[in-house]
Amino acid sequence: MTEQTIEKGGRIHRDCPSCTAPSASAAPVRYQHPDWPMKQCAACGLVYLEYVPAYDALYDEIAWHKQHKKEEQRRLKAMPIMARIDLATRWRLNILGDATVAGGLNAWAKPGPVLDVGCASGKGFDDLRPELIPYGIEIDSRIAEIARAKFEPRGGKLVHADGVGGLKQLPANFFTGVTLWSYLEHEANPREALEQVRRVVRDDAVVLIKVPNFACLNRHVLGKNWSGFRHPDHVQYFTPTTLHAMAELAGFRAHFRLYGRIPTNDNMYATLRPA
Ligand SMILES: [Zn+2]
Repeated sequence: MTEQTIEKGGRIHRDCPSCTAPSASAAPVRYQHPDWPMKQCAACGLVYLEYVPAYDALYDEIAWHKQHKKEEQRRLKAMPIMARIDLATRWRLNILGDATVAGGLNAWAKPGPVLDVGCASGKGFDDLRPELIPYGIEIDSRIAEIARAKFEPRGGKLVHADGVGGLKQLPANFFTGVTLWSYLEHEANPREALEQVRRVVRDDAVVLIKVPNFACLNRHVLGKNWSGFRHPDHVQYFTPTTLHAMAELAGFRAHFRLYGRIPTNDNMYATLRPA
């Protein structure tokens, strides 16, 4: 785990959250927000915020859905035509059927308990096949109760905690599948989260990840107006290469299926298997 110091104002300093190389040796990234310095690791290439908000702030004043709305308004104002095209693109992707939380587990997970880290209200597991038992971790207490009411009748469980804290409460060598769906970009300790995932999965498990793709076409074209930028609630920005590297450090092999990293999609989808 990287060294962390809580500063005045509730900011936490980080070195590279993947390979732990010092932030002092990392290069500033051109799109950074004035309040939230963004660095690119000199050793592994990961783009990350050097300071992250303490969790209390993250899940209260700047809850990601509020932040998302604000960002969308800001982009519509700043760059109306491109931002609207971007919205239209996302709409089209949904119509065509994007990868879903349950979809990959239904296809590849062996029968048994499966876990969604940051499961929100549990909606992602609504169409889980019956041999898969739903478990979830969720930090927001109100929506966690909705997930609990869905998971417990099916033999599963809901842990009300942050991602890493919740993973630590779960048994080793237990799950046949785990989904990290729009979660890792928010996690202040993403490598520790993946190491904990490695601990709780069986050797034949599948781990499915959805994160924004920093290497996508829209980021290159839209620059700082790219929809993937949400300062400070997205605390690192992965490319296929940097996600692959962190997965290996945590004890996984990572690969991308055909649809997994198409440059016109703002997100990428990785499949991890225990190494
Ligand atoms: Zn690094």
